[in-house]
Amino acid sequence: MCDLLIKNGNVIDGSGSPSYLSNIAIKNGKIERIGTSLDINCDKVIDASNQIVCPGFIDIHSHTDATIMINPRAESKIRQGITTEIVGNCGMSAAPLTTAFLSEVKDHLTVNSDYGKTDEIGKSWITFGEYIKFLNELSLGINIMPMVGFGTLRSAVMGLKSGLPTKDEMRGMEDLLEKSLEEGAAGMSTGLEYVPDSLSHVDELIQLCRVIKRQNKLYASHIRGESQNLFPAIEEAIRSGEESGCRIEISHLKLGGKFNWGKTDQLFDLLERAISRGVRLSWDQYPYIAWGTGLVDYIPRWVIQDGHQKMIEHLNDNSTRKKIRLEINKAIKMGIHAYNTAPWENVQIAMVKSPEYKSIEGKRIAEISKELNTDPLDFVFDLLIKERGSVKTLVFCMDEEDIETIMKHPRTIIASDGRAVATYGELNKGSTHPRYYGAFPRVLGKYVRDKKVLSLETAIKKMTSMPAKIMRLDNRGILSSNKVADITIFDQKTVCDVATFENPHQYSKGIEKVIISGEVIIDQGNHTNKMVGQIIK
Ligand SMILES: [Zn+2]
Repeated sequence: MCDLLIKNGNVIDGSGSPSYLSNIAIKNGKIERIGTSLDINCDKVIDASNQIVCPGFIDIHSHTDATIMINPRAESKIRQGITTEIVGNCGMSAAPLTTAFLSEVKDHLTVNSDYGKTDEIGKSWITFGEYIKFLNELSLGINIMPMVGFGTLRSAVMGLKSGLPTKDEMRGMEDLLEKSLEEGAAGMSTGLEYVPDSLSHVDELIQLCRVIKRQNKLYASHIRGESQNLFPAIEEAIRSGEESGCRIEISHLKLGGKFNWGKTDQLFDLLERAISRGVRLSWDQYPYIAWGTGLVDYIPRWVIQDGHQKMIEHLNDNSTRKKIRLEINKAIKMGIHAYNTAPWENVQIAMVKSPEYKSIEGKRIAEISKELNTDPLDFVFDLLIKERGSVKTLVFCMDEEDIETIMKHPRTIIASDGRAVATYGELNKGSTHPRYYGAFPRVLGKYVRDKKVLSLETAIKKMTSMPAKIMRLDNRGILSSNKVADITIFDQKTVCDVATFENPHQYSKGIEKVIISGEVIIDQGNHTNKMVGQIIK
C-alpha cells in the first residue's frame, strides 16, 4: 500500500540520464519505488501519461526571505516547479542580528532594496538559531534553506561604519558566522557591489571563508563587479576559494555591459583554470538580458554608505548635490560609471512606494525625464530622496548569445535570483523582474524546446541534482527510492514563462503538478493549500 502513485510518466531522474517510461510509488513523503510494473495498491493515483516527471527544482539563488513571511505559499516559485529555495543571498539575510546594531542591519536591507519588508526583523529573533525556529513555526508552501548574508553579519557586528574591521570586529564576525553555521545556516553569501559588503577587503572574506571551510558549508558570491570590473572580481572570488579551501558558488554569472559581450571564452578560461588547480568552484545563471538592482548603484558609494538618512541629507544639500553630480559625470567620462554599462534608456523603474510615483513603474528613466522635462540625474536624486534610497530597477545590459553560451557550459546551474511573489495581495506590486515568475519554465520552453540550446535531461540536471550536490542536499534532486518525494510534473509541449518585462505578474504555464514530501501542492493550476514546506538545515 502506498500513499500516492504517479503512473505512466516520462521519468527524467535529474542525473542527466535519458528519460524512461515508468511509475513512481510514494509512501510517508518518500519515494518508495520506481518501476514499470509496480503491483501496489494506492488510494491516490496521478496519471502522468505524456508528461515529464522529474525532481522538484532547487532554486540555489533566491531572495524569498521577506516575502515568505507575507505569503508563505511562495506562489510565483512553486508554480515554476520549484520545491526548494536557498535564501539569504547577495549579502542580505534576516539573521544573525545583534541588539547593538539592529537599525543598521535594517538600513542595509532597506537600501539594498532586494529584501523588501523589514518590520519583522529583530522582533522574533536575534540569533540565526532563533530565526530558524521562527521559520519552522510558520507553515510554508515551499522548502527553505537559509544562508547568512555577509552584509547582515558585518552590519550586526560593526554597524555601517566605513573602513576595515578592527581585530576585535573581525573576531566578532568569525565567531558570529561560526555560531550561525552551527545553528543551521547553509553557508554565507556576499553582495560585494553593495554597501556594506563593498567596503570589505578580500583578506576579510578569506578569513570568513576559512570558517565556512571548517564547517563544510558554501560561500555564494555576488562578486564585486559584473561589468567594468568583471574579470578582477572573478579573480577575487577565485582567490577567496583558493586561499581558504572552501567551496564557492559565483552567483548569477554574466557578462554585463556591451564592452564585455562575446567574452565567454575568456570567462570560462579563467574559471576552468581555477578548477584545474583544485578550486572548488561552481556558478549559477538566470536566463534574462536584464538584471534587477537598486537605483543606488548610480550614485557614488560614499553618499549611501552611512545609511539612508545620511544619503537624503547629502542629496538635499545643494552644494553636496552639485559635488555628486560632478563626480558622476567625471566617472561617466572615464567610462567607469554604472551609466557606461547601461545608459538611462536601458534603466527601467521596477518598483516605488510613493503613490505619486506609481505611474513611472515600468518606464525607462530616459523616457520619464523627457516627459517631466527634467535632467535625468535630478530625477534620480529626487526619486531616491522620496523613496528613502529604495528604488528597484531593471537594467538591460546583457547579450542573448552570451546567455546561451553560459547556459550550455556543463557546470552552469539554473537559478532565478528572484523572490516569490503572487498575482494577488500585497506581493502583486510593481513592475518586478519577470524571473520571479518565469526563470525555470523559460529555460524549459524557450531554451530547451524552442531554441534547442540544451537537451531536456541536461536542463533538468542543472535545476535538480547539480544544485542539490552543491548544497549537500543528499535526499533531494534525484528521483530514486528513499529520496524525499519532491516532484514536478510538466507538459514538455506547453511549458513556458508568461511573465514579461512589461507585464511581469503572470504565472508560468505547463507546470501541471508540484509535489512536496509526497503532498500535491499545485494540482492542474490550482493551489491545494497544503503547507508542508520544511526549513532545511
Ligand atoms: Zn546578487
